[in-house]
Amino acid sequence: MDPEVAESLSQDTDAVIDIGVSFDGTWQKRGFTSHYGVGVCIDILTGLVIDYEILSSYCHACACKNSVLKAGEISEEEFDSWKEGHKADCAKNFAGSSKAMEQEAAKRMWGRSVSRHQLRYTEMLSDGDSSAFRQVVELKPYPGQEVTKLECINHAHKRMGTALRKISVDNKLGGKGSGKLTAKKCKSLQNFYRGAILNNQGNIEGMKSEIWAGLLHCMSTDEVPLHNRCNPQWCFFRRAEDNGETPDSHSLHSKNHLSREVGQTLVPIYHRTSSDSLLQKMQHGGTQNNNECLNSVIWARCPKTVFVGRNRVEAAVSMAISSFNEGASAILNLMANLWLESTTITLNTIREADMLRVTKANAILSPQTKGKRKHESNERKVKRHQQEQEEGAKYGAGMEM
Ligand SMILES: [Zn+2]
Ligand SMILES: [Zn+2]
Repeated sequence: MDPEVAESLSQDTDAVIDIGVSFDGTWQKRGFTSHYGVGVCIDILTGLVIDYEILSSYCHACACKNSVLKAGEISEEEFDSWKEGHKADCAKNFAGSSKAMEQEAAKRMWGRSVSRHQLRYTEMLSDGDSSAFRQVVELKPYPGQEVTKLECINHAHKRMGTALRKISVDNKLGGKGSGKLTAKKCKSLQNFYRGAILNNQGNIEGMKSEIWAGLLHCMSTDEVPLHNRCNPQWCFFRRAEDNGETPDSHSLHSKNHLSREVGQTLVPIYHRTSSDSLLQKMQHGGTQNNNECLNSVIWARCPKTVFVGRNRVEAAVSMAISSFNEGASAILNLMANLWLESTTITLNTIREADMLRVTKANAILSPQTKGKRKHESNERKVKRHQQEQEEGAKYGAGMEM
């Protein structure tokens, strides 16, 4: 930490700090019919979970009592007095649709960030659907201080792919033959787009220029090279020029260049995906990978396919977050608080789990493994593209583009 910042913090322990968080909502069941939803805020800088909220629109005790009432086995008065006594234990803490859970969770967490953590979540990294962000803005949680939205680079990358595949299907730009917008070409344009954002963090003009460079690079031929804006890091033509060498023929680097007509059709997409307002939200270079990782840890402990009560969801979420923030050894604190003794076997198992996690995170994948994963991912994308062409594009991130 900057010594000046550290000193000012040590002098003023009541200071409220502004941070950027990555927010995401996840549901116990797929689709929008889940009884339980979880909203999580992760600090972008440290990757630690800062706060979470579990919303439940279902209480098993209430459901049972309601059916008893409906069957006429108890009177309205008896039901009301039971309900009064049950209030404190009721598992239902939200009345509304599953979709609205995400927004409600955001509102609750932003509403308590100062009182609970002395933090203001002034930047919110969330996915394309900004309903939770709009709710937070309406809430005005921090007088005189606005909350701004950040965009996840992975989502922008996905939206670019969806938009390219959709225009390829709608305008029949795909298929065989030279100059076509094939599935492979969509993927390479999508990757150029992501690279342009990551290569130019904090430099919107640079990002914009390199985004367009990706398109022009893919349209280039020996006769009409369009590499002026290209980055020598990834462009063979510019690299050769910079080294005073004669560039290779384009056919050696790409078997299929985009035709001028196809390139022109893509111009509106490139205008939309390189707008200043969008690029501004991606200057941080962050993603929601941490949220996605945590979501999978949560639901691995509480499967989406079985019916569960709120207690089970709460246990899964709190244990997942403990191990996400502190590693598997977090369970030792829990055991100590429950006066449970940890045996040597427990300690060894936990140490092994933590070591395995670190080893996996630091592992350098062999070229074969990397190639295999890339091949599998490409195959999945090509298959999806073919399906879309057969069925017509239905729904996907970026359809609004
Ligand atoms: Zn209840
Ligand atoms: Zn180039």
